[in-house]
Amino acid sequence: MAWFRQKYKDNIDPHAFPGNGTFAHGIHPPQCKDLAADSPIEIMPIPDKVVLPLLQHIGGPCAPVVKPKQTVRAGDLVGMGEAYVSASLHTPISGDVLKMAVTTLANGRHMQAIVIRSNGEQRTGQALWDIMFGGKWPQKEYQTLSPEEINAAIHDAGIVGLGGAAFPTHVKIDSDDRKPIEILMVNGCECEPYLTTDYRLMVEAPDAIVAGTMLAARAVRAKKAYIGIENNKLEAVESLRRAASGAGVKIAVVKTKYPQGSEKHLIKGVLGKEVPLGGLPSDIGVAMTNVATVTSVARGVMRNIPLTHRVVSVTGGGIVQPKNLLVPLGISMGALIAYCGGLRKTAARIIAGGPMMGFAFTNPDTPVTKGTSGITVLTHEEIRRVEQTVCVRCGRCVDVCPMNLVPTKIAMASRQNDFTLARKYNINACFECGSCAYICPAGLPLVQLIRTGKAQIAGAGR
Ligand code: SF4
Ligand code: SF4
Repeated sequence: MAWFRQKYKDNIDPHAFPGNGTFAHGIHPPQCKDLAADSPIEIMPIPDKVVLPLLQHIGGPCAPVVKPKQTVRAGDLVGMGEAYVSASLHTPISGDVLKMAVTTLANGRHMQAIVIRSNGEQRTGQALWDIMFGGKWPQKEYQTLSPEEINAAIHDAGIVGLGGAAFPTHVKIDSDDRKPIEILMVNGCECEPYLTTDYRLMVEAPDAIVAGTMLAARAVRAKKAYIGIENNKLEAVESLRRAASGAGVKIAVVKTKYPQGSEKHLIKGVLGKEVPLGGLPSDIGVAMTNVATVTSVARGVMRNIPLTHRVVSVTGGGIVQPKNLLVPLGISMGALIAYCGGLRKTAARIIAGGPMMGFAFTNPDTPVTKGTSGITVLTHEEIRRVEQTVCVRCGRCVDVCPMNLVPTKIAMASRQNDFTLARKYNINACFECGSCAYICPAGLPLVQLIRTGKAQIAGAGR
């Protein structure tokens, strides 16, 4: 009976899916989602201009297909993704191409960008919401589309993973006869603290999520589709259960633990299957995408609307009014912060993304890209400060690493530029979740060291 009460409390139905709803290791950082969780998505007013970097995704950059002084309409193609692993770029606003310029992304990379000045002639407000998320989303008509037609529409719409990775979706869910897909997994965990964009979409746009899930499942010829959600988002669970009723999409409620939203760990929690070290979900017959991404799939395939906007959480104790905003790509992060009332005096660090995997930045002109899931502004109090000392060999980083790595050894090998040793410790299996650095009592910058090592290995082609 005690066991049942525990299951009920967790809201995990042990018969709904094969996994046990969680994974080994991981951490429980403060969630801090209450700051913005109850703020319905607001639509940002049209900015005067947008700055559209030509590389907003993993893979090759876009080639510009517009020139300065050219007039464009919202939704027009402005950058062509020519490589297979690339994604095309479309303008979110109507207006004139001002110039090509170099901009700096939140991760510090410099990038060529197209600057477009608005003429104010595009949809906004409720009309924009209705075309993007509202109205009726068919659940049966999708069956008339072939997987190839769905994938071509996803490609043409420039869709990438909106959970943060920004991997081109037409590649991720391209069907491959050598690796048949049994299951589509849609990630609604949003385990990164503070961020609430996926949560608000699940509450406010569940029909678009279910429609996009069914389309993506058909594109990969999957026999089953799950949407995985952590059990700290019960309103989202109820909303999606209602929308998915009769659609054949299962809602899998998993335990709240970081990084439950990592694809390998969500697969483990829901399906009880392990993705082999160095392998991909497709190696075990699973394709993975995200709830925000599938809304873009639904829109791109059913309404022929490319990816031009995304939902961004602007949150943290250093923001006057935390909100969730539907914003055009290329708008400045500073404009979003200003729309949310600006920074509090106590604001100490601005992060693109969340505190575990995001990038601290200072330039308010930094543009929002397809991979920008949030802006988190932390106060001095919210920043966990631990004075850096030497490794005390406590082993806590090993205890929490969800990939069963030895973070301290990888980080030290990386610091000493011993990349042979770093590879021996499987440095490339680290997905930079930050759990080791979070738990380290010596305040060692484990993730930065590992990230630097990975970049040097990649750069040297080792
Ligand atoms: S080594 Fe990598 S995967 Fe393991 S806890 Fe650290 S950041 Fe996460
Ligand atoms: S948690 Fe920090 S101090 Fe402990 S073993 Fe790992 S690196 Fe060393």
